[in-house]
Amino acid sequence: MKVGNLVGLVGWRGMVGSVLMDRMQAEGDFALIEPVFFSTSNAGGAAPAQAKNETTLKDAFDIAALQRCDIIITAQGGDYTSDVFPKLRAAGWTGHWIDAASTLRMADDAVIVLDPVNLPVIQKALLQGGNNWIGGNCTVSCMLMGVGALYKAGLVEWMTTMTYQAASGGGAQHMRELLTQFGTLNAEVRPLLDDPKSAILEIDRKLLAKQQSLSSAETANFGVPLGGSLIPWIDKDLGVGKQPDEAGWGVSREEWKGGAETNKILGQGAGFGTAATPVDGFCVRVGAMRCHSQALTFKLRRDVPTADIEAMITADNEWVKVVPNNREATIKDLTPVAVTGTMSIPVGRIRKLAMGPEYLGAFTVGDQLLWGAAEPLRRMLRILLNA
Ligand code: NAP
Repeated sequence: MKVGNLVGLVGWRGMVGSVLMDRMQAEGDFALIEPVFFSTSNAGGAAPAQAKNETTLKDAFDIAALQRCDIIITAQGGDYTSDVFPKLRAAGWTGHWIDAASTLRMADDAVIVLDPVNLPVIQKALLQGGNNWIGGNCTVSCMLMGVGALYKAGLVEWMTTMTYQAASGGGAQHMRELLTQFGTLNAEVRPLLDDPKSAILEIDRKLLAKQQSLSSAETANFGVPLGGSLIPWIDKDLGVGKQPDEAGWGVSREEWKGGAETNKILGQGAGFGTAATPVDGFCVRVGAMRCHSQALTFKLRRDVPTADIEAMITADNEWVKVVPNNREATIKDLTPVAVTGTMSIPVGRIRKLAMGPEYLGAFTVGDQLLWGAAEPLRRMLRILLNA
């Protein structure tokens, strides 16, 4: 069935939304749609330059205005989705809802969209009348863009992922907080740094004292200092109320998403009547600005030569690239600084581990605002417009 092209955009000026707008502009998406821009804070204001006939911002809580749209793309956040989506469907709206927030991801009637990995899952749902298309967790989407080939080949018995996630995963305010902390810490030891004869232990002591005395305003977003430190917990505590040794005890919501969403994206697990692949690990916030990195350990179903693994990964999609497992290539190409702002998904450090020939290690980096958020949404828009 042909889908109309009146497209509502909500959350377009946020962190994910502005990257989405950039990508839609770069790929010529606005030429194919009549955009209607919504706002939760500035209804009646001027719509951005991409507007055509609808030049004022509409109220993002106005159900009647939203109902006019054939497709709505939102990067406004989970609270907005929880509030507006049920009202819109209750009002009888049958349009397509494309969303960056996690709220609806695990709903039975929602598909987690990452078409280079799960186009068949998307197409099947589309044929069955599906109309809820949700972007996946940023770390999961970037991981599957990198090593999805191993899953598609049925090679993965289980996988662990140890993540190194950037400050921007929390949104614009988190990035500002990290940078402000870096500035505060640098200022604290600046005179000592400028003096080449100063004692490093004194610098270290002063720095630690400052980190430990940052005010609650200076740590409002992360809760504790991130500058010069790390935080080995991301998102909610799902283990509250459970006992040690009970399934789910001590698991963060970000870690839970790794297993739940990887399987759902691949169209496997309980909801599909098949076995799920165990995926688990630890998710850690680090002082990177943008790009989530992750160290992966695979237990393969059989011993496959490393060169074959590299060839499979390389052939999977046009954005993944294998970084040779040597020091020079790794420090040049496998870092957040090298990858930020690009669509490239490098996978490196690919090698067999000491535990045996079925144990494979790898390291991957992805811009979580591109493949981890904005890109799957705009690609889903294109799939609908071409349906
Ligand atoms: P965000 O930067 O906080 O933006 C969300 C909304 O905040 C904007 O649409 C805007 O709404 C409002 N806002 C208030 N003050 C603002 C300001 N100074 N600048 C810009 N916007 C401002 O949130 P986000 O990181 O884009 O996340 C949006 C959703 O995507 C969330 O559900 C998140 O979980 C999900 N997601 C995020 C990432 C990531 O890496 N950040 C990755 C994947 C998914 P109005 O214009 O209506 O006022």
